[in-house]
This record gives sequence, structure tokens and C-alpha cells, in this order.
Amino acid sequence: MTTEKLPRRILLGPGPSNVDDRVYEAMSRPLMGHLDPEFLVLMDECQELLRHVFGTRNRMTIPISGTGSAGMEAAAVNVIEPGDRVVVAVAGVFGVRLAEQARRNGAEVVTVETEWGTPIDAGAVAEALRDGPTKAVAVVHAETSTGVLQPLEGIIEAAHDNGALVIVDAVTSIGGHPVDVDAREIDLCYAGTQKCLSCPPGLAPFTMNDRALEVITSRQVPVRSWYLDMSLLANYWGSDRVYHHTAPVSMIYALHEALSIIVEEGMQARAERHHRNHLAFVAGVEAMGMKMQVDDPAQRLWSLNAVVVPDGVDEAAVRGALLNGHGIEIGGGLGPLAGKIWRVGLMGASSTSNNVLLLLAALEGALKMQGHTVPMGAGVAAAVEFFVA
Ligand SMILES: *Cc1c(COP(=O)(O)O)cnc(C)c1O
Repeated sequence: MTTEKLPRRILLGPGPSNVDDRVYEAMSRPLMGHLDPEFLVLMDECQELLRHVFGTRNRMTIPISGTGSAGMEAAAVNVIEPGDRVVVAVAGVFGVRLAEQARRNGAEVVTVETEWGTPIDAGAVAEALRDGPTKAVAVVHAETSTGVLQPLEGIIEAAHDNGALVIVDAVTSIGGHPVDVDAREIDLCYAGTQKCLSCPPGLAPFTMNDRALEVITSRQVPVRSWYLDMSLLANYWGSDRVYHHTAPVSMIYALHEALSIIVEEGMQARAERHHRNHLAFVAGVEAMGMKMQVDDPAQRLWSLNAVVVPDGVDEAAVRGALLNGHGIEIGGGLGPLAGKIWRVGLMGASSTSNNVLLLLAALEGALKMQGHTVPMGAGVAAAVEFFVA
């Protein structure tokens, strides 16, 4: 095998999403030393671009070296001390992972759960908070395993009323849905580069406010992870530039370019694009006689569309036909939803009207190959109707 022969896929799964050629070009620029004055300027600019995308003025806003899960782990390991009570909203794979990370960091974890495919009720979180002093509430904004957009408003208020920090997983929302860290008073928030930011996987944008910083600096025991210790990382990314680890230089080039593309498009225009392409895709899916996993349209993610697999259809065979016949990747279900849903990502550069039309057409063909009848051209027609309206 040679990497030269690798195919160019249309990435419509749960991540990674497609990457603009400008990002690939940025990654191929010559390496510099990670303490080179020119590189330090690029690091500063990356932080400023990330503040813009997160909607924050937090000084401590950095890309962590590692994927989205490293961002999750950083939030948990810095905030939690052994014995702390932490409330975690669990309604999918990533909520489960958050709870597991909190537990491994010694927290007494209280989960608030609901059926996968529905959001967590803020009232239930408030109730869990009333049962004892709580260090933090952790919640997934965009649950990639179910396609649910979790409302944050009541949860954040309840947490703050009870003196708890709020940790928000924005891995699949940032760059697709508004996140607005400062306006919503989110204390710690992390993301990943390979979803709606349309950059290869490898960095975890992370931000936290002074309230979170204060909690961390007044810890009784040091942060168990040396690599993810925010006070050490603050000295590396701050004005002192104390060597901590070698920043993944080429990934920083990529992130800088991907974020610049987002700023050029505009945050609001980008969110609207994600919304429109999602609505067109849903119109097509429903016209083909299929159902979305999430019933309430207001609770559906624009970036990740969970489609119920029709009875009698081999979902893996359909995914195989899309990949082999059209070079299109979509995802299957996880956990209790394995075999029951397809997960269609319309994230970042992958969220285009062309991709929506192509996928609906290709999906019709793949379903017909399974002997499943679909009204001829109905999906594409409904999406076209939506786009011209
Ligand atoms: C993808 C994802 C993660 C994990 O990110 P990795 O980059 O795979 O480590 C965490 N949370 C959510 C909601 C995700 O979608």
C-alpha cells in the first residue's frame, strides 16, 4: 500500500468531516521549532480565533494536544478531587464516557439518565443537585451517538444556583450550532477539531473561565495527570512559554487555517448553513418514507442526523454500498442503537447542498438494492423543493 493511492472520500459520518484544501496546504508548510518566535505568533492567533469560535474572552483558551476525548479528560482531571460529588447527564455514548472519566478521577458520580434519543430534563438535574454539595455538572451539548441537541439553559442555572461548575462537551456542536460560552456562562468547555471545525483529528480546543481556574488553583491534591494539568499548560501557552511538551506544529497550522475559514464565513452564516442542509436532508428522508430517530424537530442536531433504519433493511449493507459505490461514508448506531439507526454527519465542509442531494440519491439506490421500495426520486425532489423555496 502507498498513501498516494488512498481514495478521497465524501465524509458524512460522525467525524472526521471533509477538510478544505486550504487546510491540507497549511499542514504541508515547513516545520518550525515550537518555540520559534514566528510559531509563537501563530499560537497566539490560534487562541484568539478559538475565543471567537467559542464565544468567550477566557484567557485560558487553548487547543490541547490530543483528540476530543483528551479535552473531556482534561476537564475531569483538573476539576475533580477524590470524593467530589459530580452530576453527569447521560443520554448516549458520550455521556457514559463523561461519567466514566469522572469516576476514574475519584468522583462520587450521580448520573441523571433518560432514554437515548431524548434530551435530559433540566428539572431532573436540579433535583440531583439538591441531594448534596456538588463540585460540577457535566453535560454533552450535542450527543453524537443519538443526534440529540441538549438544551443547556435550565441545567446551567441549576448548577450555578447550587455552586457547581458547568462542564459542557461541545465536540459536535462547535462550528455547527451556536455554543456561546460566555453568554451562557459555561465554566469549562471542550471540543474536537474533526467535526464541525473541519480540521483533521488531533487537537481538543478547550476553554475555562476564572471561576474554574480558581477552583483548580485551590485544589488540595495536585492534578493527577501531568500532561493535562491546566496550570502547567497555562505556563506554556501564556506569556512565559515554559516548555511543557512539543506542540504538534503541523496540526496548529491546520487549526489556524480551519478557524480562519470559519471567521471568513461568519459564525451565524455557518450555523444557518448547517441548519438549512439538515432541514433539506430531513425533508428528503421523510419523503422517502423513513423516520428520524429524534421525534421533536427542535431537539435534532443539525450536524448529526440519526435516521431510523427501515424494517427488513440490512443497515451495514447499505453503508457498504454507499462507500463502495459512491465513496460516501456514513455511520452506524452505537450501544442500544446499534443496527437501528444510521448516523449522517453534515459537519463543517461536509454540510453542503450537493452532499445532501448526492446522499439522498445514493441512499435510494442502496435501499432498492436491498429490495426496499422507495418512491422514485422522492428524497431528492423533496430536498430540491426545500432548497428552492
Ligand atoms: C467525537 C466525540 C468525542 C470524542 O472525540 P474524539 O476526537 O473521538 O476523542 C467526545 N464527545 C462527543 C460528543 C463526540 O462526538
